Amino acid sequence: MCAKDVQNSGVEDQERQFADLVMRHSSDAVIISGPDRNALWVNPAFSAQTGYVIDDLLGNEPGHVLQGPETSETVAREIEIACRQRREVRVDILNYTKQGEPFWVDLKITPVYDAAGRHTHFISTMRDITERKALEDQNEEMRRSEELRQAERQLLALTSEWLYSAKSVDELLMVVKRAMHTLIPEADGALYVYDKSRSMLGLAVCWGSLPEFPQHILPDECWALRRGRAYSYGLKPIQFDCDHVTKPGTPYFCLPIIAHGETIGLMHIVFDGFEEGGIMRHMREEVLRNRWEISLICAEQISLAVANVRLRQELHEKSMRDALTGLWNRRWFIDHAQREFLLAAEQGEPISLIALDVDHFKKFNDTFGHDAGDLVLREVAALMAEKFSGALQPCRIGGEEFVIFCGACGSEAAVAHAEEIREAIARLTLSNGAQGLPQITVSAGIGTLGRDGQSVEQVMKAADKALYLAKDRGRNQVVADHRDGAAAIAGAEPDQ
Ligand code: GH3
Ligand code: MG
Ligand code: MG
Repeated sequence: MCAKDVQNSGVEDQERQFADLVMRHSSDAVIISGPDRNALWVNPAFSAQTGYVIDDLLGNEPGHVLQGPETSETVAREIEIACRQRREVRVDILNYTKQGEPFWVDLKITPVYDAAGRHTHFISTMRDITERKALEDQNEEMRRSEELRQAERQLLALTSEWLYSAKSVDELLMVVKRAMHTLIPEADGALYVYDKSRSMLGLAVCWGSLPEFPQHILPDECWALRRGRAYSYGLKPIQFDCDHVTKPGTPYFCLPIIAHGETIGLMHIVFDGFEEGGIMRHMREEVLRNRWEISLICAEQISLAVANVRLRQELHEKSMRDALTGLWNRRWFIDHAQREFLLAAEQGEPISLIALDVDHFKKFNDTFGHDAGDLVLREVAALMAEKFSGALQPCRIGGEEFVIFCGACGSEAAVAHAEEIREAIARLTLSNGAQGLPQITVSAGIGTLGRDGQSVEQVMKAADKALYLAKDRGRNQVVADHRDGAAAIAGAEPDQ
């Protein structure tokens, strides 16, 4: 051996010594295997990480010892193929300690060759990445639940948009049914509304698969109504079923619906699919808590939407009513008549209009005062409202002028109705406080769809003409047809 060789071998020894030191003191686990992949040597970090010593692995492929039930088969196969092809491979893989504890490692397997190019060993290094993985899992979970929240928020926004565009309570109930079923698909639900007497609540709408919601519940039967705030059953250690529930023990929510400060109803949501042994207890609570929050928001939005619909309906109703008499006004008459005329023309149904006017009302006002005149108008209107309903709709279209819209009435039937009211008014005994008032009379004229034209204007014009004829002929009478030259149906001018 020459001096140079001696020098070289000294350097190699030192390198080997250093490598040995690195392997022994590395915090990463290291396994050295033969070309058949059977383990030959492990470093102390490996034993510290896994609990295995070399004797546990000798004659075994490390993977067979370290992999377990939750290890990904795809990753195991990827390692298998790389090793067979003698390629380097790097993967994240779930391993198990000798005690059976799972832990994640960043595993790198490198094939090693000698100077002659022969494959002599595999070196596997494993870094414990359990914490990183847990963090990644946590992030993933957070991302997914954020996505879910986002979807919920969007659905809630959409629901509130629909709720606010509801024109009537019926439309609102339809939206509630659809929205609640979509927002909380695992629950059945019902919406109850107080009846007029406020002694009980009636089932207005229900959704889901549970058909057993009672038709009525009493306010006393519900903790939420008794305590005046939303009540959840299934989230608290001390809790009692409401008396109206059909399946005691099943988690449920009761949420009062409040409009303009007044409780007008109750939303009842039942988690019927949550039977014991199904969804795990801790998950069940988590889901329930989330649904509780959604339900509270929904109940609030439904409450606002109900208040909104009621207000809108009240305003609409007000804009269509005559303030003095409470009868429909001219605006309602025009809207309604126009629609009904179109429908009736299509279906060949008859419609008639009765134009009715108080006789000598100016004189009455001048003699007895405006208040007495108002009283007459109210009395005449009340009589009409009492006699006519359904398809017969009395309207006040001006001062002392009324129209009775007679759906499904030909001219003969309309004349009979006009005659009936004329007689009834003529029989009215009126007084304004202590002041006795004289008998009043009305005149009326009939217009009929078809006979007098197709439009509301034409038929109304004909009714007016017949009314003028009735006035001309002495008042207190009904004229059936303005072309009718014959005598009026009834009436004689009363003494004024
Ligand atoms: P005719 O028999 O021809 O119908 O005579 P008339 O006096 O009833 O008819 P006219 O159209 O000349 O007078 C209608 C009167 O109705 C005039 C007005 O003083 C009165 N009037 C209109 N609106 C009201 C109201 O809201 N209250 C009261 N008290 N009177 C009203
Ligand atoms: Mg008049
Ligand atoms: Mg008049």
